[in-house]
Amino acid sequence: MRTPAGIDCKYFYGDYYRGRSVEECRLLDASNQKWNPQLCKSCPVPGIARANSCEYIQLRATVTRPLSAFFMTRVQVFAYCEKSKRDVLEPQIGCGECHPIPPVFEVEK
Ligand code: SF4
Repeated sequence: MRTPAGIDCKYFYGDYYRGRSVEECRLLDASNQKWNPQLCKSCPVPGIARANSCEYIQLRATVTRPLSAFFMTRVQVFAYCEKSKRDVLEPQIGCGECHPIPPVFEVEK
């Protein structure tokens, strides 16, 4: 469903039937985090979903405020792979278990 920021996100739910105006983020709801429409503008979740469609990746989101009170709150995402049973540091790429990165893309040290 399309978020208030105009991006498709599978975790956004909106009910506008017969004058209703119910909107919620089911990813943040699952973590008992308070959602507001401004969070969708900078949220990384739609980008992660576009880049990585792995069926084993589990996302967990929290709302954070970086550094000081002057900055807007943002969604911070943590990813976990149910298959390899480990945290995923780059959710857009994945853990590398199912789809290993070809050696040509690895940086030599
Ligand atoms: S905050 Fe992020 S995950 Fe939640 S509905 Fe908006 S774009 Fe989707």
